[in-house]
Amino acid sequence: MKIYNTLTRKKEEFVPIEPGKVRMYVCGPTVYNLIHIGNARPMIVFDTVRRYMEHKGLEVNYVSNFTDVDDKIIKKAIEEGVEAEVISQRYIAECKKDMEALHVKPATTHPLATQEICGMLNMIGTLIEKGHAYVAEDGTVYFRTRSFKEYGKLSHKNLDDLEGGKRSLLVSGEDQKEDPLDFVLWKPKKEGEPYWESPWCDGRPGWHIECSVMSKKYLGEEIDIHAGGEDLIFPHHENEIAQSEAANGKTFAKYWMHNAFLNIDNRKMSKSLGNFFTVREICEKYDPQVLRFFMLSAHYRSPLNFSAELMEAAKNGLERILTAVSNLDYLCGNTKQTKLSATEKELLTQADGFGTKFDEAMDDDFNTADAISAIFELVKFANSNASEESSTEFLKSLKNKIVELADICGLSVEKKEELLDSAIEALIEERQAARKAKNFQRADEIRDELLGRGIVLEDTREGVKWKRA
Ligand code: AMP
Ligand code: ZN
Repeated sequence: MKIYNTLTRKKEEFVPIEPGKVRMYVCGPTVYNLIHIGNARPMIVFDTVRRYMEHKGLEVNYVSNFTDVDDKIIKKAIEEGVEAEVISQRYIAECKKDMEALHVKPATTHPLATQEICGMLNMIGTLIEKGHAYVAEDGTVYFRTRSFKEYGKLSHKNLDDLEGGKRSLLVSGEDQKEDPLDFVLWKPKKEGEPYWESPWCDGRPGWHIECSVMSKKYLGEEIDIHAGGEDLIFPHHENEIAQSEAANGKTFAKYWMHNAFLNIDNRKMSKSLGNFFTVREICEKYDPQVLRFFMLSAHYRSPLNFSAELMEAAKNGLERILTAVSNLDYLCGNTKQTKLSATEKELLTQADGFGTKFDEAMDDDFNTADAISAIFELVKFANSNASEESSTEFLKSLKNKIVELADICGLSVEKKEELLDSAIEALIEERQAARKAKNFQRADEIRDELLGRGIVLEDTREGVKWKRA
């Protein structure tokens, strides 16, 4: 299995530190809003990496954080007149719902920054002791960037080039730094903001330290894979390397993986530009699996442009697989043959070839675009070789092969029985009753269950309306 490593700019053979086990950390979202489909790209891509590794028999310890203390969360809390925690808890819950709809498996651990302050204080203390960090007059703790000789190795940046670019920072109120390249590890509290006590000042952590600390706590000092979107290469991941390697004296991560952007009109989709669609919005128009299929139709290191045409193409592509599977089911229920014939045996050997092709594509730095092509080839093969004269064993084997490959991509292609209108209405009634009884957990469960079956609920003044996505 080969992985493109941002650190070496090469595809390298994947050799886990501990045979048979993978320690993987993926930087997660800052939770102050519903996630947009750009945020969903790393979730889907790295979940697929995990699924493929598990398919290969590796045991993956997958850690992905939620950044739950941040300026934007605090701003939103002030606007709504609630505690920051109310905002972060709300959007963590919403994010988990989106992940479930997109078949992103829950991480082994989803740590929260606010629960790991103690570890952060320890690591910052170590960095100060070792001379890699210092405390400014106002209690801010800065990382002394030039003290870490390998700074810039991930982003392939040269410190002196950076210095030129950062000179303006010196006059922007950050003049307590020794050097414009230094970055914040801990900062003093501001009026009305959440804060924690520390030996340096009451305050809160800078953004980068949380990932160094959580990765160490849940995966150890040396991990196999660290991943995220390519905007995180610099400064976030560069700073994480500096903190972790300066504090622990060990190589932080062996392989660094970064997904390219999801664009819209050739610009990065982002909250700050306002050019985004939330996962929730898209799932009202399409089955969430269509979004997953769309994301995987491109290689993760290629930019992907979001458009209605491409979503339609993804919808049709997925439909083709679903139809082939339900056709195999139909034939299976109608044939009188049970035993595999010699010709069928030969055909199944040929069909195995598509599985090999799938694996080869995935082994080549997770080329999901080619892997999906292999599924399409298998679908075409099944369509042209299966008939009412085929044996049940043959039909089932073909179906299982398609289902298995799709499943590695996180796509479930066995059609669920469509819910009858009466069943939907009964569930809606149960949800209303649960809400009345203030059992919001059950009410949410029902909404999610329906969403998973392609039914979207809308709470209107006239009551609950529903439609099939
Ligand atoms: P944020 O909440 O901005 O920290 O983003 C969470 C994750 O989503 C990070 O890994 C980002 O790199 C990633 N991300 C944000 N926007 C995009 C985008 N338009 N395309 C791909 N990944 C993105
Ligand atoms: Zn991170």
